Amino acid sequence: MKEIKLTKRQDEILQIVRTNGPITGKQIAEKLSLTRAALRPDLAILTMSGNLDARPRVGYFYNHDFEVKQQAEKFLHQKVSDFKAHPIVVEKSTSVYDAIVQLFLEDVGTLYAVDHDGHLAGVISRKDLLRTAIGNKDLQGLPVSVIMTRMPNIITINPDETLLEAAKKMISNHIDSLPVVKEIGQDMNTYLLVGRITKTTITRAYLEIMDQKLG
Ligand code: ADP
Repeated sequence: MKEIKLTKRQDEILQIVRTNGPITGKQIAEKLSLTRAALRPDLAILTMSGNLDARPRVGYFYNHDFEVKQQAEKFLHQKVSDFKAHPIVVEKSTSVYDAIVQLFLEDVGTLYAVDHDGHLAGVISRKDLLRTAIGNKDLQGLPVSVIMTRMPNIITINPDETLLEAAKKMISNHIDSLPVVKEIGQDMNTYLLVGRITKTTITRAYLEIMDQKLG
């Protein structure tokens, strides 16, 4: 679905139909102090684009379903780069104990481990830490590199991909978040970590887009 750019007058017509519909072309024309003929091209465009529904002898209706679809489409095609959050990073030599403290301090569900060059090396989630904490006494002597999900098993996303792609990757892989990465040179699986996308990011983006229209 391609969103067409409406003119100022077409926007005015939409608002009139939205608040007064069903309304006839003649009544809309009167409200805008225009002739019915002058309005005809705009009404034709708005009807063909799906913004308005026209019923003979009744008048024009505002198409709410069309609006919702348009908003949903807009939401799904947002770029990851516009919504990504700051990633919380630890060195892969960090102890499991310190990682748990970090998780609480930063109020996140997932930490990312990097190697000495700052490249993404692993993912450490709540469950990884809980599982380890259950069976281990020496959490201070155990580095996260032993328990993390590591390359090449990490599911990543690029800043240019869409929120739809991010949502699909999270759902199909049963994970709560994705590291947003940029590939470095030609090296396979060598990534610079530039952000994170979580299920919360997707929910927030959804509310923001809907609020623009509803607010
Ligand atoms: P939680 O443990 O809080 O339920 P997740 O569902 O995200 O969080 O993590 C489940 C498992 O998947 C963990 O073992 C974690 O290391 C792994 N994991 C999390 N994110 C990713 C990712 N982007 N790529 C690969 N594995 C991941």
